[in-house]
Amino acid sequence: MRILVIEDEQKVAAALKEGLLHENYEVDLAFSGEEGFYMLSTQSYDLLLLDLMLPGRDGLEILKSVREKGMRFPVLVLTARDTVEDRVKGLDSGADDYLIKPFAFAELLARIRVLLRRGKSNGRLRLFVSDLEMDRITRKVKRNADAISLTVLEFDFLELLLRHKGQIVSR
Ligand code: CA
Repeated sequence: MRILVIEDEQKVAAALKEGLLHENYEVDLAFSGEEGFYMLSTQSYDLLLLDLMLPGRDGLEILKSVREKGMRFPVLVLTARDTVEDRVKGLDSGADDYLIKPFAFAELLARIRVLLRRGKSNGRLRLFVSDLEMDRITRKVKRNADAISLTVLEFDFLELLLRHKGQIVSR
């Protein structure tokens, strides 16, 4: 499995590469959006790890271009804690999941594993509608920052509706 990391902070990028190599992933680094997009256009990757705050073309622009070009590999966005709006924009722009910096490396690995297992089409790990957010890995649901407690059946039902947002679902 081959991963491209687009991250302008060289120390962070190097640490990510080292950790991912240790897990037997193949890893390439790009330090700017332009460089990253060039690599995505010319080589093939199974997953993109994308920092949102980049000089030049930022992460969201890269993400939009990637999806407009029809590239379907999973994208995991790395974002700062105080950019909740960016997070939602990231998901609207075609990210499959996100992690808030600083994050635990073990959690990053878990999310990468799930994204790669799910392949290219089976959808996002976090689902949104308005201010309601569902995390499909931890099975937690929040409205704004308030946790909502759901039974297993309620969760599955809500997940079905969120996955078919805007559509009619059969009984
Ligand atoms: Ca950055």
